[in-house]
Amino acid sequence: MQNARTARKAASTMHRVMEYASKPQSGVTLQELLEFGSDITPAKLIHSAKFLHHEMPIRYAHRVKDLDTLPYGLCQMPSVQQVKQWYIHSMEELLAFPKVQTAADERRFTSMIESIKDRHNATLFTMARGVHELKMAMVAAERNGDLGITMADMIDLHSFLDGFYLSRIGIRMLMGQHIALHEKENGWVGSICEATSPAEVALAAVDTARHMCIRQYGDAPDVELHGDTNFTMPYVPSHLHHMLFEVMKNSMRAVVEFHGVDNALPAIKLIVADGDHNEDVSLKISDEGGGIPRSALPRIWSYMYTTANSQAFDSMIGDSMPMDFGGESPLAGLGYGLPISRLFARYFGGDLQIISMEGYGTDAYLHLRRVGDASEPLP
Ligand code: ADP
Ligand code: MG
Repeated sequence: MQNARTARKAASTMHRVMEYASKPQSGVTLQELLEFGSDITPAKLIHSAKFLHHEMPIRYAHRVKDLDTLPYGLCQMPSVQQVKQWYIHSMEELLAFPKVQTAADERRFTSMIESIKDRHNATLFTMARGVHELKMAMVAAERNGDLGITMADMIDLHSFLDGFYLSRIGIRMLMGQHIALHEKENGWVGSICEATSPAEVALAAVDTARHMCIRQYGDAPDVELHGDTNFTMPYVPSHLHHMLFEVMKNSMRAVVEFHGVDNALPAIKLIVADGDHNEDVSLKISDEGGGIPRSALPRIWSYMYTTANSQAFDSMIGDSMPMDFGGESPLAGLGYGLPISRLFARYFGGDLQIISMEGYGTDAYLHLRRVGDASEPLP
């Protein structure tokens, strides 16, 4: 009896997933978010809630469907099942919420959004664990001589995860923006700062990265700022901080390990360039940390080469699920720094590239799109 009911419930859930996954997702641009969010009124907040109420179940359903079609047994891994349950739970919660019509509805909707956002805090970490579980299963299979998974499969898996994580950035941006629109602050539209100064954000990222580097190695290289350090543009400072912080941490570590902490450390250069046509803003982080061999370059963008072992994953989970980001992020050292930073850049139409000269150093180019009229890439 109980089993029949559970099975019926699961079937109707999957039916809803398929229904909503067949609807198209609607992308937004940075420009649209800015225009919509300026001079926020209670009526606009209701409008924004209505948009999320419509859009989020569709995006969640798309992801559940994707997770279900994950190949190579990855969708069976316990961690991936866990992530899927979060997505289903959130989709169902949104669908069960009544139509948002009044300011009171909107407030209740916003607190639901806040709890949904928290529910998904550890998605990256949990997916990383799923990939690790898959790798363990593969190692066992290899021992038995039936590996059945090829390098091409791994590349597919990488594109899947790239799309999945990119979509996550989008959903969290929309939720975060709606929540932040409730706090009015001069010069800010939700989480977008109209006059974001790349140089200023870079300095803050440098500061945190240097602290971490000094704590770990006892010393850290200086960072010199060059180029157009005065200009500003509308952007999400937290995204920019994330990218610059990850790149900076890598450069500092490379410099210290290449030169040795007892020797003079060559400064890292950070160059800011504002394009003539009001189009691109580029930042270059240039280090003399010995570079990366070209043969290792594909690996730096991969989610599959984590060096962490099972114990590392277990020890990171205490009583509660960890957060993906933040000071003591459990993702540190899992090889997610560069690929996730590149997704943050691409989300608003930019990109991140790494050019290395083995034996000398590495240049990281971060391109941001200044006009902000690129629609979110929606996998
Ligand atoms: P993590 O730092 O967690 O290993 P990242 O994605 O940030 O993951 O970097 C992946 C790898 O790329 C690093 O482990 C390192 O081997 C290499 N790498 C990245 N940036 C640099 C750099 N500036 N100089 C030398 N190696 C680098
Ligand atoms: Mg890193």
